[in-house]
Amino acid sequence: MSFVRPLTLAALVGLAAPLAQADEVNLYSYRQPELIAPLLQAFTDETGIKTNVAYLNKGMVERLLAEGDRSPADMILTVDISRLAEAVDAGVTQPVESETLTANIPSDFRDPGNQWFGVTTRARLVYASKDRVADGEVTTYEDLADPKWKGRICTRSGTHSYTLALVSAMIEHHGEAATKTWLEGVKANLARKPQGNDRAQVKAIWAGECDISLGNNYYFGKMLADEEQKAWADSVDVVFPVFAEGGTHVNVSGIALTKSAPNKENALKLMEFLSSAQAQEIYAEVNYEYPVAPGSKPSDLVTSWGSFTADNVNLMDLAGHRAAALKLVEEVDFDG
Ligand code: FE
Repeated sequence: MSFVRPLTLAALVGLAAPLAQADEVNLYSYRQPELIAPLLQAFTDETGIKTNVAYLNKGMVERLLAEGDRSPADMILTVDISRLAEAVDAGVTQPVESETLTANIPSDFRDPGNQWFGVTTRARLVYASKDRVADGEVTTYEDLADPKWKGRICTRSGTHSYTLALVSAMIEHHGEAATKTWLEGVKANLARKPQGNDRAQVKAIWAGECDISLGNNYYFGKMLADEEQKAWADSVDVVFPVFAEGGTHVNVSGIALTKSAPNKENALKLMEFLSSAQAQEIYAEVNYEYPVAPGSKPSDLVTSWGSFTADNVNLMDLAGHRAAALKLVEEVDFDG
């Protein structure tokens, strides 16, 4: 993964802070290029500030640690609260004091210490076969361990961050022992070993391999917009399950300012832009995510799938249970 750093006169002659440019901002992103390109384009159109993005599959924190003060990165973009918390814990971020960010992002979706900021939420739903699952047959996450689902569930790996966040929420609601029992029950109901991404599970429902799967809400929109995948999406309904004494599981995508941030001013502008009504609408319309800013609305398509009450588990508590969730997933050999 190469990082694009334009050579400038300042860099060539070795002036102080050679990485700091007047008109650019550097990002490390776990989010895919097509997801964020429209947002970055809108930012550049509005401000004239150029964005350079290094897309990473893994190892962002390790890279930032290795680069230390010399890192060219100003900002990180990622999904999943545990990844945001990991970056903060590793000391590669710095706090941001911004009235715009605190006004645009509800306190539930940002770090009390202002180290990370959620810019969208996503709900983890059940995709259910239109033909083989009755209305009202799925209601809770707990119910996925019921033997009535034996041989009927498909899911991605238990060690994926989306699964671990859901397991973390289960731990927060019911404790580790009950969560282990739940994981064993879900494993016993699987139609096949965990494999593939969220969309691959819906494809498996379409192909008749299983009847329900777990998946994030925005993949429904993405499949509907894809020529090949539309048939998969058309074979399912989305259901908003809840925890027995809670709501629908949600996670965030978020941003943080790096500790090194050579272009701090520009990074702050981009962070604030991503929380603005304009950017929140792009997230909603292009990515089918839920915007967080007060007054911003999900797209009409997303709204048509139904409404829900988000689970009451605090995001930092989710991140705090991640290690325990991974341990349980491994103990029950969920993927085996
Ligand atoms: Fe995703």
